[in-house]
Amino acid sequence: MKITGAVLEESGRDRPFSQTRPISVGELDLGEPGPTELLVKIEAAGICHSDLSVVDGNRLRPTPMLLGHEAAGIVVATGGAVVDIHPGQRVVMSFLPRCEQCGACAEGGRLPCTTGTDANNTGELLHRTRHLSREGEIIHHHLGVSGFATHAVIDRASAVPVESDVPPDVAAVLGCAVLTGGGAVLNVAKPIPSDPVMIVGLGGVGMAGIITAKALDVERIIAVDTVLEKLQQAADLGATETYTPEQVVALGVKARYVIECAGHPRAFETAFVATQPGGTTISVGLPGPAARAAISPLTVTAEARTVIGSYLGSAVPSRDIPRYTQMWREGKLPVDKLISSRIRLTEINEAMDLLAEGLAIRQVIMFEEPLGE
Ligand SMILES: [Zn+2]
Ligand SMILES: [Zn+2]
Repeated sequence: MKITGAVLEESGRDRPFSQTRPISVGELDLGEPGPTELLVKIEAAGICHSDLSVVDGNRLRPTPMLLGHEAAGIVVATGGAVVDIHPGQRVVMSFLPRCEQCGACAEGGRLPCTTGTDANNTGELLHRTRHLSREGEIIHHHLGVSGFATHAVIDRASAVPVESDVPPDVAAVLGCAVLTGGGAVLNVAKPIPSDPVMIVGLGGVGMAGIITAKALDVERIIAVDTVLEKLQQAADLGATETYTPEQVVALGVKARYVIECAGHPRAFETAFVATQPGGTTISVGLPGPAARAAISPLTVTAEARTVIGSYLGSAVPSRDIPRYTQMWREGKLPVDKLISSRIRLTEINEAMDLLAEGLAIRQVIMFEEPLGE
């Protein structure tokens, strides 16, 4: 079928992207879903820093690639082997499909699925299929989702059904920002209310960490970012203290759990310095592969510290998405407040500029509904 999608032509073009236009929006061909796959009509798709990292070349992926890994939509058709999802159901897309057969999957959410990671790296779906092309040219899938399009074919393993009361934009943001930032709190830190939690880096993922800590009744929620506007937004979302990285170091502010969500080695260093003796530094961000941070091994030993990595919030999406939707339904997790703007697919290059400038929490592309301006 013919679809409209946003294709990254090549990585590493100069900014502003509004002028160099690395992403072109146009007509593409989408094949039929295979036995284990679904055809989904996309309703909403969030723009994440990991999309930007592919655009600016920090994360190397094959191009041309149809970007977007945080999306939600309505199932239109299912392959013959799919028995537990039906047309008409709303699904959240998950960017790390789980094969449930490899050794990594056997570890719960702690390790990324090996098969899913391999497929993501080559721009294919979980069962190594491809369905996207443009006048015969192969277009790569992005993390098994490619949600910046009117329709997508995804593997069943990349979808988690949600109830129809969850709006599409909220559903989309659950798939990356909330699974990742919320999961770092819920699955890794697991704080009790008296444990101070610090979040370093306040994009969509970091802000999701803030609202999840608040949902868990954490008494001291410390937000850290270089952008003062974001500190104010974090306070509005439930942070009890806000600081710039310089202030954290100068004032000696520390927390039991410190979660690095900026994807920058300097932010990781700040997070490490700000971790209490006996505390845990949790690395969630994805800096470039060459990035290096300086930390003191003596401090790790002498202060009995833990430094731990958490990919996708150590989530098992089929287990965790229902937890977040229930928290949202009870009014404890205001996911809608993470959405800083709702835009059209054609505004994608401008949206990448805004994200690169650190001026957006979550911009969500809406495919059908009016934007409500
Ligand atoms: Zn993401
Ligand atoms: Zn697996």
